[in-house]
Amino acid sequence: MDLYEYQARDLFESYGVPVLQGLIADTPAEAAAAAAKIGGTVVVKAQVKVGGRGKAGGVKLAHTPEEAATAAEAILQLTIKGHKVNRVMVAQGAAIDKEYYFSVLLDRSNRTFLSLCSVEGGMEIEQLAEERPEALAKIAIDAIHGIDLAKAKEIAIAGGFDAEVADKVAPVFVKLYEVFVKEDATLVEVNPLILSKSGEIIALDGKVSLD
Ligand code: GDP
Ligand code: MN
Repeated sequence: MDLYEYQARDLFESYGVPVLQGLIADTPAEAAAAAAKIGGTVVVKAQVKVGGRGKAGGVKLAHTPEEAATAAEAILQLTIKGHKVNRVMVAQGAAIDKEYYFSVLLDRSNRTFLSLCSVEGGMEIEQLAEERPEALAKIAIDAIHGIDLAKAKEIAIAGGFDAEVADKVAPVFVKLYEVFVKEDATLVEVNPLILSKSGEIIALDGKVSLD
């Protein structure tokens, strides 16, 4: 069972993974109210269980509640990869410096856990794996030891992070692994995990599949 992005966001928040405020809306009026509540620039995002929403017009920035309503009106009319959009999430807007990729998943064919990591996040993982396979680290995770801080740093370095940023993302990887284990997930993916312009690591888009 795949969770919607807003459900993944709420789950992440409950585990202390850094996320931005996000509220769901089913109508343009609700989107405007959510934007007013959050304040400032927001992002209106289609809630469908497929990736590539950005490219399909399903992720729009809005600077005012009126703009959020207009964005929601357009997005609520979309069908993305066969999935009709019935709901949006209005999220606090982020000033993005860098976009990264991190996931942990159950590798059924090898009956092990695997972590994938790259400093080159943002694009879809299939595309990254195809176009820049050398930029995507694949690290086997021992189920007994899991991902502790040392393992998390090893994953980050393998994914191309420099030592300083590796120190910043590692505790977030540890928390995401905790989500994976405690929720009996088969996939926890963050794409993008961002470095904001003010230097914070934030999970901007999450995908979680539960067993
Ligand atoms: P996906 O296309 O379905 O994976 O949706 P994402 O939530 O990952 O958003 C796609 C892209 O939109 C991201 O990679 C970002 O570049 C951009 N984006 C998403 N949220 C924000 C935001 O708060 N601020 C800015 N500036 N860009 C965002
Ligand atoms: Mn994404």
